[in-house]
Amino acid sequence: MTTAFIALGSNLGDSRALLASALESIKQLDDTRLEKISPTYRSAPVGPGGQPDYLNLVAQLETGLSAGALLAALQQIETDHGRERREHWGARTLDLDILLYGNQQIESAELTVPHPHMAERNFVLYPLTDLAPDLLLPCGTPLGSWREACSDAGLEALGDIIEPGR
Ligand code: ATP
Ligand code: CA
Ligand code: CA
Repeated sequence: MTTAFIALGSNLGDSRALLASALESIKQLDDTRLEKISPTYRSAPVGPGGQPDYLNLVAQLETGLSAGALLAALQQIETDHGRERREHWGARTLDLDILLYGNQQIESAELTVPHPHMAERNFVLYPLTDLAPDLLLPCGTPLGSWREACSDAGLEALGDIIEPGR
């Protein structure tokens, strides 16, 4: 089994219900246990202007799935929740990114782990730190040093408002 951290985000539709349902789907993945869920944050969107704010959180899993199989399963959950692939970084009902997969560094056509933008994203670093404050990244850097270097501008902590459900 491998510990994986997944970033969940939504800024279209009923984001709170979509994220709760996505967590329920993650819980039901083969060979996977949903261990912990971070508090939820509201964040200002990255990318094209005029989009609604995001709700973001991070989930900690134990999984027997390979990283590739986990990505495919997460993409199916996105599709099941109305995700349409339109403009890059455009508004979406559900975005599921693999932040970390054990201590592995992966560079393939479909998958880069650790997630390439996590160092500069407060909506990832803050909830991840809530779950695993003492985490060491695969490169050897403590998560805390990335988080300390990352401004909380545009980020609002909402607390434990989302749990798995439908
Ligand atoms: P960003 O990667 O900047 O967060 P995004 O989430 O909007 O952007 P998507 O359109 O959801 O990007 O995904 C584009 C592709 O990114 C996916 O088809 C997937 O193959 C690839 N990808 C690479 N690394 C990862 C990862 N760690 N987690 C999820 N998808 C990844
Ligand atoms: Ca993303
Ligand atoms: Ca994504």
